Amino acid sequence: MSYRFVVVGAGISGLSNAFFIKQLFPKAKITLIESSNRVGGMITTTKENQFICEEGPRSIKRGKYDRPLFYMIDKIGLYPELVTSVQQPYSYIYWEGGLKSIPQQKNLQTISRFIKENRKDELLNLMKAVPKILFPNQKSDNLGEYFDEIVGKELTQKYAETAFYGLYGESVYKLSKNMCLSKIYMSSYDEDILAMDLIYDDEFEQIRMKKLMKANSYRFAYGLDSLPKRILRYLKDNSKEQNLEIQLNTKGKEIDVEQRQLVTENENQEIKRIEYDYLFLNIPSSEIVSMLENSTLNGIKEDLKKIKNNSIITRNICWDQKILPPDFRGLGYLVNPNQNQNILGMVADSLQFPKQYPKKSTSLTVMTIKDVKDDEVLAELSSHLGVKVQDPKMIMKKHWMKNFIQFQPGYYENLQRLEKELENMKIIIGGNHYTMVIPELVYLAYSKMKQLYV
Ligand SMILES: Cc1cc2nc3c(=O)[nH]c(=O)nc-3n(C[C@H](O)[C@H](O)[C@H](O)COP(=O)(O)OP(=O)(O)OC[C@H]3O[C@@H](n4cnc5c(N)ncnc54)[C@H](O)[C@@H]3O)c2cc1C
Repeated sequence: MSYRFVVVGAGISGLSNAFFIKQLFPKAKITLIESSNRVGGMITTTKENQFICEEGPRSIKRGKYDRPLFYMIDKIGLYPELVTSVQQPYSYIYWEGGLKSIPQQKNLQTISRFIKENRKDELLNLMKAVPKILFPNQKSDNLGEYFDEIVGKELTQKYAETAFYGLYGESVYKLSKNMCLSKIYMSSYDEDILAMDLIYDDEFEQIRMKKLMKANSYRFAYGLDSLPKRILRYLKDNSKEQNLEIQLNTKGKEIDVEQRQLVTENENQEIKRIEYDYLFLNIPSSEIVSMLENSTLNGIKEDLKKIKNNSIITRNICWDQKILPPDFRGLGYLVNPNQNQNILGMVADSLQFPKQYPKKSTSLTVMTIKDVKDDEVLAELSSHLGVKVQDPKMIMKKHWMKNFIQFQPGYYENLQRLEKELENMKIIIGGNHYTMVIPELVYLAYSKMKQLYV
């Protein structure tokens, strides 16, 4: 079918939409609208002083939902640039004045260190809870209450509160279990069915088995932004001119629902109307609300307004020397929100991906919620690590304003209602309305396209 697809937002979600349109509807016309001057959205790689700074996502985690993203990496030819992470024995949480280790590898050494720094009964209770966490029941949608039920309040406060605050910037008692743990929006994922449609080439399959399956996470040699850039190049190289239109510096301004037209405005304030058969919106809900301002879709606007967002500040900090204590061998650490600290968490980039940084250097990412001074961040980092950190070579700071959706209890019901109402008008929402995790975003883009194909 030669549908006209209009995709708004050229982050990883919008680009994945365009990629899978190309795969499933080769004759379709795709128009990609992006308000900034580049593709990639939150994926932001900056190279300075020999340091690769991933200011947004810093790596892609391997997991259960990898096939559509792997398939895309295969097809765009990015796999020779794969860099896999070095496994670390621990991650850490900051609790009662110090870092406590959490085993990442289940061997005697890591487990006995956990018991020494914590308690044996904690370990047993956490282990007993694992099957329940992996297969949660669907009764209550409050994540905190759910953890209280299976591990008790004390362990919820210490571990669940730390982990989820670090990931979502919100207390577990204000988070939805269905979105954060059960991930019911991913329930349609079926590896066997996908394996019939998304077939890897032999060369990629070998790399996948040899390299990827053993790693926790991965990056690309020249930065994560190679992913969006290469998808764009693939689209350009594999489309007839009349079938692909990419408009950067162009904002989706208004949706004319009756006429099925998207109104856009470019940097020269030129207004254009683009007709669509299907409109994909991979942009924040606040943007969609403003695009529907003149419409009478009041119910939809109300549902969209219920979606709230959090902000964080990241700092990529680089030193041309080793600054971590020798026994720090972890992915990073997360800080319990009740410990009265500014730092929300730290990611040890150069420990995870040493090949990407100059020898004997250190590169960390530190997250805070409040806008505190660099000096305060460095002093707190020193106290957490138990060493005085030297003045860094470089600090790159970025505000992520309202980029993190608060998945409150009941969020999924609201999203489903919204999804249905919009679908009736051939409008499909994706992206961070579902998840922040890149492989999941790519699967969602694929599955939404596949639904149209069937
Ligand atoms: C600091 C940080 C760390 C992260 N770490 C990780 C990680 O380690 N691993 C991981 O998997 N994920 C991580 N994430 C999450 C991940 O980066 C995001 O979930 C993902 O990049 C979102 O992609 P998207 O395409 O859905 O949205 P975005 O990347 O936000 O793209 C949306 C695009 O739409 C454009 N746009 C907005 N409004 C309009 C409009 N009206 N018209 C046209 N265009 C518009 C924007 O300019 C943008 O390019 C992290 C995110 C941040 C901020």
